[in-house]
Amino acid sequence: MFCVECGKIGEIFRDAVCVDCYMKAHSFTKGPDVISLSTCPHCGSYKYKNSWITDSFDEILKRWIKHLFDISGEINKPKISTEHKEEKEYIKGKVTITGFLDNIQITEEHDTIVRIKNDVCDVCSKRFGGYHEAIVQVRADNRNLTKKEITMIKKYVESLVKSLQEKGHRGLFITDMGEEHGGLDFFISDKGSAKTITKKIQESYGGEIKKSSKNIGMKDGRQVYRMTYLLRLPSIRKGDFISHEGAIFNIYTISRNKVHILELSGWTEKIFDIKELENDNIIGRDELIKEMILVSQTKEEVQLMDPKTYKTFEVRKPKNISYDLKKVKIVKIEDEIFLLPDNNINHK
Ligand SMILES: [Zn+2]
Ligand SMILES: [Zn+2]
Repeated sequence: MFCVECGKIGEIFRDAVCVDCYMKAHSFTKGPDVISLSTCPHCGSYKYKNSWITDSFDEILKRWIKHLFDISGEINKPKISTEHKEEKEYIKGKVTITGFLDNIQITEEHDTIVRIKNDVCDVCSKRFGGYHEAIVQVRADNRNLTKKEITMIKKYVESLVKSLQEKGHRGLFITDMGEEHGGLDFFISDKGSAKTITKKIQESYGGEIKKSSKNIGMKDGRQVYRMTYLLRLPSIRKGDFISHEGAIFNIYTISRNKVHILELSGWTEKIFDIKELENDNIIGRDELIKEMILVSQTKEEVQLMDPKTYKTFEVRKPKNISYDLKKVKIVKIEDEIFLLPDNNINHK
């Protein structure tokens, strides 16, 4: 047999021609010379077909190339690889497609130009439009939030949102936040995440969550509700000195609805349900703590001197401890003086 194209005698591949002539006359892959990509200038996501994706340029380009390039059904096990190089006005791409025609390996290369244009993505246009499905409100019982609480909670919510976004929640964003009525308001794009965020703040600060919803109209034939999650923080805070049933407590931590306290007369640590302490009298905080000079100590008590007045006085030790320190922290509450624990005390 001979090839009708080149006349060579040998094996005929297809259509009465030899392998070489068949390959010369056919190409097995084809694609566009120019690929246009849209990217959002605000968040850097890319458009793929009808959706926006947060992914690297490399990955997006690969997806588009897979989608846009035709590979003949004759080719087995096709593989696509891409390279790109940035030029001044555009990106130069090189697409290499390999595969097998029967048992013969073929490789075809295409040069393509990638143009990138800016387009505001779905999420960013919602964000600029003030879209929010839920409001997270943080308030405190019988008091305003402190400056420190406001700063900490803001930071906490921002980092939570960021980590949820990084886990792939593209549609989540904080539309707006504000300090309102002694508290904080966060306008959140997504209901479910707003609920998670409220619960997370509760885990660290305690308090109670109340949920309410408001009908904001119809969309696609369905009623749409906007949720409000109100977290009411307890009046008591970490660091407070409170009086409870005749004893004085220093609050160590508040987590969910548990309060970890130190009872000052015996230095016993206890955990209370927040409800039990809610209506207690808050005496004060750090401002009550004073530092005294240790003059001497016995097993039962310490003799201290006030560095301002040089007056000396005795205070009973709450438990069997000894001080290596020169300075001792105390609080004076209702004419009674209590020693405060320090990290450098030897507990016996
Ligand atoms: Zn031939
Ligand atoms: Zn965007």
